[in-house]
Amino acid sequence: MSELTVLKFGGTSVADADALQRVAGLVRRARHITRPIVVVSALAGVTDTLLAAADAAANGDAERMPPQLDALLERHAEIAGRLARPEAAWGLRTVLGQASGEIADLLKRVAGEPERRPALGDEIASYGERLSAALLTAVLLAADIPARFVDARHCLITDETYGRATPLLPDTEQRTRAELAPLLDRGMVPVLGGYIAATREGVTTTLGRGGSDYSAALVGAAVAAAEIQIWTDVSGVLTADPRVVPGARTIPSLSYAEAAELAYFGAKVLHPKTIQPAMDRGIPVRICNSHAPGDPGTLVTARGEVRAGTVKAIAYKAGVTVLQISSTRMLGAYGFLRGLFEAFERHRTVVDVVTTSEVSVSLTVEDAGSLPDIVAELRPLGTVSVESGRAILCVVGEGLRTTPGIAARVFATVSDINVSLISQGASRVNLTFVVDESRVREAVLRLHEALFEREPADLDAAAATGAP
Ligand code: ADP
Ligand code: ASP
Ligand code: MG
Repeated sequence: MSELTVLKFGGTSVADADALQRVAGLVRRARHITRPIVVVSALAGVTDTLLAAADAAANGDAERMPPQLDALLERHAEIAGRLARPEAAWGLRTVLGQASGEIADLLKRVAGEPERRPALGDEIASYGERLSAALLTAVLLAADIPARFVDARHCLITDETYGRATPLLPDTEQRTRAELAPLLDRGMVPVLGGYIAATREGVTTTLGRGGSDYSAALVGAAVAAAEIQIWTDVSGVLTADPRVVPGARTIPSLSYAEAAELAYFGAKVLHPKTIQPAMDRGIPVRICNSHAPGDPGTLVTARGEVRAGTVKAIAYKAGVTVLQISSTRMLGAYGFLRGLFEAFERHRTVVDVVTTSEVSVSLTVEDAGSLPDIVAELRPLGTVSVESGRAILCVVGEGLRTTPGIAARVFATVSDINVSLISQGASRVNLTFVVDESRVREAVLRLHEALFEREPADLDAAAATGAP
């Protein structure tokens, strides 16, 4: 029996009828060489609209179904009308009608109990992937592919951290296998919505924005897939965010460590948690373009391709806050850092980058929601300063550690931009620093130009003279 492959299609890969037809072609082609399992995101824009409606309801601004949501539900029906068999299209219309009523009820409940917004918000958001999976199943069936809708909430089991739940791996693996094996044994193609999951008690949760990639990796790990394919709207992981650097190029291969760092530091093409399940099981992750399936894309494996002297990519994450805690009590003291980090743990706030000196610690956080409380708890430890509006910039490549002069090139290139925190060496594959948010795009553009668009001879000359 051929090997299993997970194919994950993102929101833009299922945005309209043409896109869905391309997906059907890709699944059909995959069936010639493998046994596919399909994971699909909500149609482009649907999750944003559902969550905005939940926010509006919680703020008392709207209780009713917003008109743009009706239009999005209608988009499912139109696509089904074009691509599904008539009876399936009718079936989907019924499902959409029910969904519309259920979402309207949920919005009313959010308005009445705004404190339940996190849990109800996940329930509301889940309709995006539930409906896209139902629609794609109907489209695949019309293309003579034996697809079967699978409710992902019966497979992916998580804790109760609504909005960004953590999977419970043994339960997820066991349930995923139990749901999918009977279908796969009968030659069927399971179709699951990404992003959505449930607690052990069956309450709907979500894995965090962009979480369908993570769903695909979890499903792939559970069934020991031979490959996890992330089909998106760009031709793989590029040397930088193409919205900032139009000339960014596809990186043919990455190691798990490189891909994880890039995803963590802002390369939206992969959800930050995607790599871990794949890495644990040694499953290759391939990132491909559903709009240009012939393009080679990026292959992420344990080894990647290590070439000395090569920077693979630049990523950035804006909306970051830097905290500096200074105290002479740090000198020669033990237990100081533990006390400091416990404040972040108590408030469940993730710290991204940390640097320390003799008497101060600088660190970055993305989620500033609990910062006033954290700062209040840190004040007894020393002087605390808070700088918001910062961005983390991250240069990634396995060759970084072994190649002298890269840091000099990087900082020469941004020498007129204030750099407030630098970290290199914590991971062997990245050089990370913090700049003002207002200058990060310019810094990325200039670094891309210096590191990817100039001849090596120019770079050596630039490093020697310190010129950007
Ligand atoms: P999907 O809906 O398929 O999950 P996303 O919008 O989540 O797609 O991710 C793809 C987008 O990620 C690209 O369109 C691109 O704008 C953005 N992106 C940011 N950094 C990178 C990068 N280094 N390489 C490729 N894409 C990137
Ligand atoms: N639909 C979800 C989102 O927009 C998950 C995903 O697309 O990966 O965040
Ligand atoms: Mg995505």
